[in-house]
Amino acid sequence: MYDLIIKQAMIIDGTGKPGWTGDVGIKNDKFTAIEPSLEAADTSETVDGNGLVIAPGFIDIHTHSDDFWLEDALSEIKLQQGVTREVVGNCGVSLAPMDPQSRNDVGFQDALISLGKHKNSINGFSFKNYRTLLEKKGFSNNLMGLIGHGTLRMAVMGLSDNIPDQNQMEKMKILMDEAMEQGALGMSTGLIYAPGIFARTSELLELSRVVAKKGGFYASHMRNEAEEILASIDEVVTIGKQAKIPVQISHLKITGHRNWGLVDQVIEKLLNAKKNGVDLTCDVYPYFSSGTSLTALIPPWAMEGGMKHLIPRMHNAVQRKKIIHDIKYGIPGWEDMYHNAGWEKITISQFNAAEKNDIEGRTVAQIAREKKADPFELILDLIEQEGEGVKIISETMNEKNVGIFLKLPFAMVGSDSHFSKGKPHPRLYGTFPRVIRRFVRELKILTLEEAIYKMTGLPALRLKLKNAGLMKTGFQADAVLFDPETISDRATYQSPDKFSSGIARVIVNGKTVINNGVHTGAKPGRFDFPY
Ligand SMILES: [Zn+2]
Repeated sequence: MYDLIIKQAMIIDGTGKPGWTGDVGIKNDKFTAIEPSLEAADTSETVDGNGLVIAPGFIDIHTHSDDFWLEDALSEIKLQQGVTREVVGNCGVSLAPMDPQSRNDVGFQDALISLGKHKNSINGFSFKNYRTLLEKKGFSNNLMGLIGHGTLRMAVMGLSDNIPDQNQMEKMKILMDEAMEQGALGMSTGLIYAPGIFARTSELLELSRVVAKKGGFYASHMRNEAEEILASIDEVVTIGKQAKIPVQISHLKITGHRNWGLVDQVIEKLLNAKKNGVDLTCDVYPYFSSGTSLTALIPPWAMEGGMKHLIPRMHNAVQRKKIIHDIKYGIPGWEDMYHNAGWEKITISQFNAAEKNDIEGRTVAQIAREKKADPFELILDLIEQEGEGVKIISETMNEKNVGIFLKLPFAMVGSDSHFSKGKPHPRLYGTFPRVIRRFVRELKILTLEEAIYKMTGLPALRLKLKNAGLMKTGFQADAVLFDPETISDRATYQSPDKFSSGIARVIVNGKTVINNGVHTGAKPGRFDFPY
């Protein structure tokens, strides 16, 4: 007796092997039979899979949904793309761990704001607290989490740009070790953001050794994705080699048109590292614009101490001039986003104040022209009003390189999505169907089997999932049933909040969560511990 049989669908199992037509039987939370035919079997429900593909549920290994999960347990935005598992805590930012003693620090206060109405239910915040809070609420999607190095560093030394002293280093290592014991996947860094930008390689190495001992991995938003990308890859590789830790380069890309030609050297470096025994993988999102906070344009020295210190610096005429000078002309080694995009290609995607409608969805250049303002002065004014809350989308990449990176055999798909108001980057709603529409159907860069492998089997390997991520009997029944000819992203930069089309059904742990475009309300998600 089965709970559900999907009949005569093209089974693409997530290993990269060619698809074949057959029946899939599900009982409780597992695939219990995958056969050419289950003709005579008893089942509570049958679905005709003719003309459709059934694949393992997609795994989004790179997201920023940490606080969103506390607000929207149904996670429809992700499920409507076929995503049945998310990894939070990327780019150096997670909600845990926070040290209760630093409760009054800026970073802690920011994190509390993110926790919204849940903020009073915590007192100091461990990875276990985070997990428990979610598990109490229940959720529709499977979930796993990394520890953000920035969060960890803030818990111990605030937004200081110092090198940690021995005590501080010891404290960070203890917090990291605890989080790993409580089921974290490893450590992520965001080395263009404060406070990650203040960390030396040696600090990251020491923490990575703690993670490696527990079997975890190191995921890095590298120090520089532009002219210094080669040196940044060297840093990741050094950490991989010396800490003996698997490494994941987050959202691999080359920003800035002057740097696009580095692509061959980037690939050579990655292949060399692998040849030398470093367990290196990466994730890529299928767009050629990136998205972040407007504060990422501020030079690192001005971000020391966070917003609390940045505002007085912006008010000081000499320092304000220096901030603008550094944005305009750059600082050696620092990834200057203005340089790599220019005001014509940086669009404000979220601004909350009353002028919202004059600002959201427009480029900095457009807004400056309309307001007859100097664009450099303008962005400082916007930051002064809303700090990290001002989000941007910058067109800094080319699709050719995106395709080349996506095709690398060790590259997987990750959305880098962040739930935000206004006009969020369309990757939030469209990443996974977009890979199939654009890179499989239109550009023919990937076969469908390859694309599915990059969304399922490959990330499952990185996450050390032992019984999920593939269509295999005995494995967790996470699956997506879709029409390979029509599955498409519909989210655009101007209308980002559009669900994808072409997905018939999404199943999480054996339960149907999306049926013909409608969420069933089921919350079968689990928080999984890998090691
Ligand atoms: Zn990032």
